[in-house]
Amino acid sequence: MKKIIFAFFVALSLNAANLHFSLHKMETGKGDTLLIIGGIHGNEPGGYFAPMLFLAHYKITEGNVWVVPNLNFDSLIQNQRGIYGDMNRKFAVIKNDDKDKKIVDDIKKLMLEPKVSLILNLHDGHGFYRPQPKNDLFNPKAWGQAFIIDQQALAGAKYGNLGEIASKISKKNNVVLEEDVHEFNVKNTQTKDKDEAMRQSLTYFAIKNKKPALAVETSKNIADLPTKVLYQLKSFEEFMQIMGIKYKRDFELNQKTVAALLQNYGEIEIPPLKIKLPLSDLKPQIKYFPIDAKGAVYKSQNPLVATMQGKNGYEIYSGNIKITTLTTQTYAFDDSLKEVEAFADGKSQQIAIGSYLKAKSNFKINVPDGYRLNIIGFSKKGAENESGIEVAKSSIDKNYSLDKSAKLYRAEIYKGKSFCGMIVVNFE
Ligand SMILES: [Zn+2]
Repeated sequence: MKKIIFAFFVALSLNAANLHFSLHKMETGKGDTLLIIGGIHGNEPGGYFAPMLFLAHYKITEGNVWVVPNLNFDSLIQNQRGIYGDMNRKFAVIKNDDKDKKIVDDIKKLMLEPKVSLILNLHDGHGFYRPQPKNDLFNPKAWGQAFIIDQQALAGAKYGNLGEIASKISKKNNVVLEEDVHEFNVKNTQTKDKDEAMRQSLTYFAIKNKKPALAVETSKNIADLPTKVLYQLKSFEEFMQIMGIKYKRDFELNQKTVAALLQNYGEIEIPPLKIKLPLSDLKPQIKYFPIDAKGAVYKSQNPLVATMQGKNGYEIYSGNIKITTLTTQTYAFDDSLKEVEAFADGKSQQIAIGSYLKAKSNFKINVPDGYRLNIIGFSKKGAENESGIEVAKSSIDKNYSLDKSAKLYRAEIYKGKSFCGMIVVNFE
């Protein structure tokens, strides 16, 4: 995960959701545009980790893909279908004071942009859709492992042959199944005549406005997230192929590689406070973490990263995965120091506050007069300021590492009672 950085801001209005979705345009300028919408239901992770990996590991070389990975962001980090009600039943009518109103209005506007030629709405549905009833899990009422269309065709639209497209892609998906029971089928809800609830859905809003749209559903009853993400990504590729959209991906598409990539949560940065943390291996709780009394704006390359103020401090999430809780201590922030001199294994370098210092066995950081360095987990008798002291990896208490592998340590800089930023020492 490297290419893109996204910033999130907490909304000030009490009448809106806290977190708004983000839009990522992967464009070459020419050709058709596929709009992929993930995360309308917060407890359906196949539907949002797939677009997250897509953004991090695919490059579009012809045509265009627009990606919204986190439509119902507040619900996603709480792993709930919809904390303000079912967002996918708000596309026909929505009340003015509905907390989802701005999100629904904004996504409608995006869907109706003339450039958008086909829309996918991603889910993990219940069970395994089968045209014939078999049991509780495999039956016509189930939603999982299916391409859901509202009607067979939408006259006059370029990709309006929804039934044909869905049937073609479900056959292609069935080539990469991890288990035979995961087979994909096409479910036509015949929304206009037969399905009142679906008339309030995102895809039917699109259909009524002459935009081809369908839902891609993996199954809630597949426990393995990488398997679901694999199927979602495979279907994106098939849709792109039908639309003449060309791409490069930087990994081999199979369950194992997808599983490995999903372990990477990226980083979080708190730029105004000069703090940067790698998220993938953090301990579940980190104590006495310095934060500006005024609060802070954060950003991440991972569009599913969000923070929430919990009982015990700042909770950091990637989608429905809680990564860590920072038990915070508040300070005034002092921005006067930009960089310091540091030594990694004896080698000198200038290093920006808020970055990593890579070392193998020891390091030393020199802060100017008037500033104080505090290396968390290290102490030397009589030294309140740890500036200029050579610190061996073996002399730091592992209980204070940021990560489970005991490689990452905090070097915090203070001036008087103010916090000036942090360097994360990384013993590779
Ligand atoms: Zn859903």
